[in-house]
Amino acid sequence: MSLETIRRVRDLRERVALWRREGLRVGLVPTMGALHAGHLSLVEKALSLSDRVVATIFVNPRQFGPAEDLAAYPRREADDAALLDAAGAHLLFAPPVDEVYPEGFATTVTVTGVSEGLCGAVRPGHFAGVATVVTKLLLQSLPDVAVFGEKDWQQLQVIRRLVRDLDIPVTVEGAPTLREPDGLAMSSRNAYLGPEDRARAPRLYAILSQVASDLAAGADVATRTAWAVAELEKAGFGPVDYVEARDAETLAPVGERVTRPARLLAAARLGRARLIDNVGIAL
Ligand code: AMP
Repeated sequence: MSLETIRRVRDLRERVALWRREGLRVGLVPTMGALHAGHLSLVEKALSLSDRVVATIFVNPRQFGPAEDLAAYPRREADDAALLDAAGAHLLFAPPVDEVYPEGFATTVTVTGVSEGLCGAVRPGHFAGVATVVTKLLLQSLPDVAVFGEKDWQQLQVIRRLVRDLDIPVTVEGAPTLREPDGLAMSSRNAYLGPEDRARAPRLYAILSQVASDLAAGADVATRTAWAVAELEKAGFGPVDYVEARDAETLAPVGERVTRPARLLAAARLGRARLIDNVGIAL
């Protein structure tokens, strides 16, 4: 395997500085590991936009709430490294927790507005954890481009906002959601689904797609999103955290009807998993 794994910020900076001196463009793909084809599509996109790609694996404790799945989150770094190597990534940065948050660490990056509501309302502190670690990873590696999945649409808007607000010199690229053949968005957390819930799970995307096309055709937002919640509950999901139509970029609520490009976003628990997904509402 030619992929090198490094664990120290110092080594990351050194490698990237060498590449820069050679005039190479650097791409960054942050992940929490337990990689699937969705993650690898981000690597592929980063490779198409840069000469060298750094993937990171860090299960970031600060983005998990006290009752969430930090301890249970799947960890399989050796398999991940082999996948990244085969995908053509050049370097894996997989730091231990105390390298990212050493003794005395006291800074939090908070993005207001886009972080509030949706997952931000259900997972207090989650986006501050994400914003803090992503800011650190961007400043540690100083890439030309960083690639994030549209699967986590709200997260993508939070990252775009913080990069703009903090003048971080990086281009943020979104990449489309990769799905299983039955429509379920790929996710490391799909491993939590037992066979019955796995069979139910594709309903989430099916319902969102249906409602998005109704809204694009002028249907009433409140009526159709309430229908989606009821359908999800009928399909065995619950609790349904939200199904909402929002402005695609600011995530501000849309009015009674969708009149400009928007996004339909949802989160719902299914068995041991909490699934999120979103689709565009194209006018
Ligand atoms: P995670 O490891 O879940 O934190 O995700 C790391 C990156 O992969 C984030 O930018 C996610 O949005 C992205 N990602 C996760 N699942 C998918 C998917 N199914 N398709 C495309 N990107 C994804």
